[in-house]
Amino acid sequence: MLFDKITAAPGDPILGLGEAFKADPRSEKVNLGIGVYKDANGRSPVLPSVKAAEARILADEDSKNYLGIDGLAAYNLATQKLLFGADNPLIASGRLQTAQSLGGSGALRIAAEFVKRQTAAQNVWISAPSWPNHNAIFQAVDMNICDYRYYDKTTHGLDWDGMLEDLAQARAGDVVLLHGCCHNPTGIDPTPEQWRQLAQMSAEKGWLPLFDVAYQGFGNGLEEDAYGLRVFAENHAELLVASSYSKNFGLYNERVGAFTLLAADAGTAQRVFTQIKAIIRTLYSNPAAHGSAIVAAILQDDALKAQWQGELDEMRERIKAMRRQMADLLKEYGAKQDFEFIVQQNGMFSFSGLSPEQVDRLKDEFAVYAVRSGRINVAGITADNIRYLCESIVKVL
Ligand code: PMP
Repeated sequence: MLFDKITAAPGDPILGLGEAFKADPRSEKVNLGIGVYKDANGRSPVLPSVKAAEARILADEDSKNYLGIDGLAAYNLATQKLLFGADNPLIASGRLQTAQSLGGSGALRIAAEFVKRQTAAQNVWISAPSWPNHNAIFQAVDMNICDYRYYDKTTHGLDWDGMLEDLAQARAGDVVLLHGCCHNPTGIDPTPEQWRQLAQMSAEKGWLPLFDVAYQGFGNGLEEDAYGLRVFAENHAELLVASSYSKNFGLYNERVGAFTLLAADAGTAQRVFTQIKAIIRTLYSNPAAHGSAIVAAILQDDALKAQWQGELDEMRERIKAMRRQMADLLKEYGAKQDFEFIVQQNGMFSFSGLSPEQVDRLKDEFAVYAVRSGRINVAGITADNIRYLCESIVKVL
């Protein structure tokens, strides 16, 4: 038998948690594993702006014909405007090319295939820690993974000196993967001044920056969260972006993301983009239409866009409020450690500082599910579960 020799692949550490949570019979249980936004009632409903756009699409749709290999043009243009700023001259310059992708993950895979097949890069620099799929995607194309220090356990902040020291080893042409905002899993981002320094260092050394922008709008706002990317774009002739609308539009299962490249001139961008399309053709031929139609409909319509921005602001502010309450309650319940750092972190996640053993105890004794790295999804915290959660955490400290 051919299949007898095949061993089982290890389960996905994050997606596996959700299955264990579902199967847990305890009535008081809290899921802070996978990064899905939940509202104050613990639900992940479709955003009203999305529902409104879908109603329009259903009424107007007159064909299920294929999209092009690179997806919906209006969506790709809207993506460039959101990433680089609506008035950025780069957009009219023709130096940017965007292909709709299957989520941010799909965009990362396109980037990995492109770098492997079309550039001389052998190394990709990934923060330690990072979203585990970063390593996995670049391993899948046989790239050499190099870690750069990012998180300082003692300060619960950025290990800036360590990061610079490690990245100083990166050679010209190496890919350097940067989280555009709301770093997953730590929630810690470079300051504007640090972004400027990094961009300068990157341009001097000739790195190929790859920005992963999966949480635009969840940190400090849509424009603010694009600061790092925009500073790099000012300083670099070439860079890559993998972006996602899974979180900021709540379109997780529609698989909407984008791969964008910046080239030195319009002619180069067009030529290189033919290789991107060749890659997509052999991966999945062309993307699905529904999710990108929703995003395009919202971003092209002033009223719907304003509505969506309001909904995004609400998500961001709710997460920030939960951070504040969590730090306060942990103190109130007697935690000896200072948890003020939770308030400083950006985005959905908090690196709680809990050890793998403490995370295991939370699950086994209290039915509180988190990633073993200590990452918790702050967006899973609600007024109903926050007291139970904080009491449980204090008990395992
Ligand atoms: N990058 C990061 C840092 C992420 O956290 C995620 C989602 N967890 C992705 C990319 C991929 O998102 P998508 O679901 O759109 O593939």
